[in-house]
Amino acid sequence: MKIGILGGGQLARMMALAGHPLGFDFVFVDPSEDACARDLGKHCISDWSGDHLLEELHGSDRVTFDFENVPADSLALLNKQFMVRPSPKALEVSQDRWQEKTLFESLGLPVAPFFAVDTRPDLLEGLSRIGYPALLKTRRLGYDGKGQYLIRDREDLEPAWQALGGVPLILEGFVKFSHECALTAVRDAKGDVRFYSLTHTLHQQGILRFALSPSPANTAWQADAETMVRSVLEALDYIGALTVELFVTQEGLIINEMAPRVHNSAHWTIEGAVCSQFENHLRALADLPLGSTQSLGTSLMINFIGQMPSVDMLQMEGLHWHDYGKAPRAGRKVGHATWVRSDLNAMVTKLKTLTPFLDDAQVQGLGELIKAAG
Ligand code: AMP
Repeated sequence: MKIGILGGGQLARMMALAGHPLGFDFVFVDPSEDACARDLGKHCISDWSGDHLLEELHGSDRVTFDFENVPADSLALLNKQFMVRPSPKALEVSQDRWQEKTLFESLGLPVAPFFAVDTRPDLLEGLSRIGYPALLKTRRLGYDGKGQYLIRDREDLEPAWQALGGVPLILEGFVKFSHECALTAVRDAKGDVRFYSLTHTLHQQGILRFALSPSPANTAWQADAETMVRSVLEALDYIGALTVELFVTQEGLIINEMAPRVHNSAHWTIEGAVCSQFENHLRALADLPLGSTQSLGTSLMINFIGQMPSVDMLQMEGLHWHDYGKAPRAGRKVGHATWVRSDLNAMVTKLKTLTPFLDDAQVQGLGELIKAAG
C-alpha cells in the first residue's frame, strides 16, 4: 500500500518508520529540500496547493497529512481522487479555533468562554462578557503558543490589539488549571475506537517539553476524557489518530483544542504502548485491525528543542532515542527521548540520573511535572 503524506517533518518520518514493517511505501510532499522524512520514501519538493498535487500523489492508496496548516481546500480537491483520511472537514474545523470551540460547545463539552473578535469594538464587547484575564488568539495558524496575547487588565488591551489585530481573532477566558493533559485516540472506518492512557503534559514558552503517561493525577479523568473525545470522533466520523488537549481544573476537564493527526504528546507510545499512535494511525487509514493501546509501564517523553543533548543519556536503562536529523536551530523540535519504567515510583527513584543531561529550565519543568503527577 502506498501512503501519500502532505508534509515531510518528524511526524511523517515516524509514520514511515512505523509503516515500513507493515509493507507500506510513502511519498512525502514538502517544500523543504531537507524535510526530515525525505530518506524514508519518495520526496516531492512542492507546496500543498494546486493541481500538481494530483500528479505528485499519483498511485497513493491513502492520503494523510503531518501538518495542520495544509490548505483544507487542497485536501478537499485531493479527496475527489484519493481516500483522504482524516477527512478534510476534520482538518478544516481544527484550523479555526472558533469553529473548533463551536463544535465542542455544540456537543455539550466544557470549553472556556469564547468570543469571535474581528474589530476593536468586538474586543471590548468580548472583554465585557468574558472579563479579565483573557487570552486573545489568532483564529488560524497559531501553534506552540504563537499568535496569543494574555490580557491581564485594561492596560494590556491596546498592546494586544496592536500585536494581533487585523486578522480574525478569538478571545478566550483564562482557565485556572491545575495541569494540562492530552488524550490520543484512534478510530477506524467501522467505528472501532481505542484510547491511550491520558498524557500529563508540561509546556514551557508555549512548547511541549515533557509528556508523562500514565500519570496518577489523571487516572480519575480517563473516563471523562474518553467520553468527550468519543463524541468528537463520532461527530466528525473520524478515521485515524486524534489528540485532544485538555485542562484539568477543580470543576473538571475543559477542552482546549484538537489535532487531527499524530501528535507530539503521544510520541511515548512508540516504546511505551503495545501499538504506537503512528502504527495505529496507519492501520486505521488502511482499514487494518487496530492495535492495542495498552501502556507498557510509565513513559516520560522529553522533547529536545534547539539542539540534541549528549547521547550519553542513552546510558539510562529504558531510554529510547529519536534524532530527527535536523540542523540545530533555536525553538526547533530536533528530537526526543522516551524513558520507559515499570511505574512512576521506579522512575522517581532514578530521576537524579536524568538531571545531569538537562538544563536548569528542564530540571525545573520536570520537577513541576513529577510533583503535579503525584
Ligand atoms: P494553544 O495554542 O491553544 O494550545 O495554547 C498553548 C498553551 O497556552 C496551552 O497549552 C496552555 O498552556 C495555554 N492556554 C491556551 N489557552 C488557554 C486558556 N484559555 N486559559 C489558560 N491557558 C491557556
